[in-house]
Amino acid sequence: DTLPVRRALLSVSDKTGIVPFASFLSGLGVELVSTGGTARALREAGLVVRDVAELSGFPEILDGRVKTLAPQVHGGLLARRDDPAHMASLAAHGIGPIDLLAVNLYPFETAVAEGKGFDECVENIDIGGPALIRAAAKNHAFVAVLTAPDHLSEVRAELAEKGGTTLATRRRLAAEAFARTAAYDAAIARWFAAANGVLFPPRAAFAATLAQTLRYGENPHQEAAFYRTDDRPGVATARQVQGKELSYNNIADTDAAYECVAEFEQPAIVIVKHANPCGAAIGSTLAEAWDRALACDPVSAFGGIVAANRPLDEAAAERIASIFTEVVIAPDATEGAKAVFARKRNLRLLLAGGLPDPAAPGLAFRSVSGGFLAQTRDIGRCEPGLLRVVTKRAPTDAELADLVFAFRVVKHVKSNAIVYAKGGATVGIGAGQMSRVDSARIAAWKSAEAAKAQGLGEALTRGSVVASDAFFPFADGLISAAEAGATAVIQPGGSVRDEEVIKAADERGLAMVFTGMRHFRH
Ligand code: 5GP
Repeated sequence: DTLPVRRALLSVSDKTGIVPFASFLSGLGVELVSTGGTARALREAGLVVRDVAELSGFPEILDGRVKTLAPQVHGGLLARRDDPAHMASLAAHGIGPIDLLAVNLYPFETAVAEGKGFDECVENIDIGGPALIRAAAKNHAFVAVLTAPDHLSEVRAELAEKGGTTLATRRRLAAEAFARTAAYDAAIARWFAAANGVLFPPRAAFAATLAQTLRYGENPHQEAAFYRTDDRPGVATARQVQGKELSYNNIADTDAAYECVAEFEQPAIVIVKHANPCGAAIGSTLAEAWDRALACDPVSAFGGIVAANRPLDEAAAERIASIFTEVVIAPDATEGAKAVFARKRNLRLLLAGGLPDPAAPGLAFRSVSGGFLAQTRDIGRCEPGLLRVVTKRAPTDAELADLVFAFRVVKHVKSNAIVYAKGGATVGIGAGQMSRVDSARIAAWKSAEAAKAQGLGEALTRGSVVASDAFFPFADGLISAAEAGATAVIQPGGSVRDEEVIKAADERGLAMVFTGMRHFRH
């Protein structure tokens, strides 16, 4: 199964690492064949190279659109070495077999990422490269196909050790080769659809890169992996500075925390447990925000995921490290903060370099049996100017600030979601109940428990505001909020019973605003 390499075809746009690899092959006595630019680079390094044009007896034409699309090339890649008829055919036409192919494609994805114009992107669609890759990968029984920089070093090591490529390696490389051409075509298809103004094309094409295989999934008997689909700052691009390996649930919860904390302009902390915030607060410093976020539900915060929207300083790190925390994510951290976390060996510290952009368009997915749902991200954002006062009393400035804060948090709480807030901090969160009134009651009850645990005489919801992710279908949820001590309410509105709910608010002297925007999150 281990086959020697006698002739290699090298055709790479990104020439990184190609010279040392080619000179290694040359040292083994391998004949090198190459396309224009690659051949030039190798010759400049003093290597002996044959041009593909010499092999095919045909020059590169159409600005390189046609370089390797020739039977002399594809015959050499596709012939079965164990089939006498194939080999006779090669001999009859004077074609020599090619045993190794190293190709990386025209940088289409980079052209798109750099915002190049339509025509320039089109010109960056590689035609011959994918054809070469697919031919070699199909014939992996005899040909090794190298499509990524790390393949060069892997194959080099194998050639040095075994004097040839093993079938196992060639098969693995073939799988990666088809994944590469599939991802390449997916990128082209997606870009084309977008350029045509189509968000959901009839056939969806996606490219994703394995970021990490995980020890297990949501539960230990499930297998799992983490794939990266783009370069937006967030949990997928964050650098882990210290701590144990991230788990599946860690990644999901960290994402929830980081997306939520990115909603705020002032220093903010969000603590997440089981995908829901159990405390969120803004403050004049991160340390202050952390103390206030923790006060919302100190029991749940134990073993939580903490996200900050600013580089972590030492004071904030000291506060966060004072309780057991699974993961901390922030754009960055000072050396002092890193030193504080270093004392907690298991704590996972992730530095993302930036914040997720709450306004960035993009798609969100959810799997269902036999398919997946796709939708645009929820980039709806509560701003004071978008609110409509529906009660006799308008909110005070302080209430208004808290209403906006609470509605930005409620967007990140599983439905049915109710969030009480006071002074830029959540004081009660009710998540994921099948009835809205239950969420309202649970939020108030949890808040009362938190107050008791902290030895406070009064429920934290007293004098708070309340946010509901969707309209109150009946007055009962609002009445329960009023009983818990809320003085102002924010909700989308739009129920057939809005009048009833507004009347209940007016009767209790509550101020209420409608957002006209719902934030279900299931
Ligand atoms: P070079 O820099 O060697 O001139 O070109 C290398 C690039 O050309 C590689 O990215 C390879 O995938 C691509 N390539 C090889 N053959 C063909 C072809 O026939 N048509 C096109 N469009 N690209 C090719």
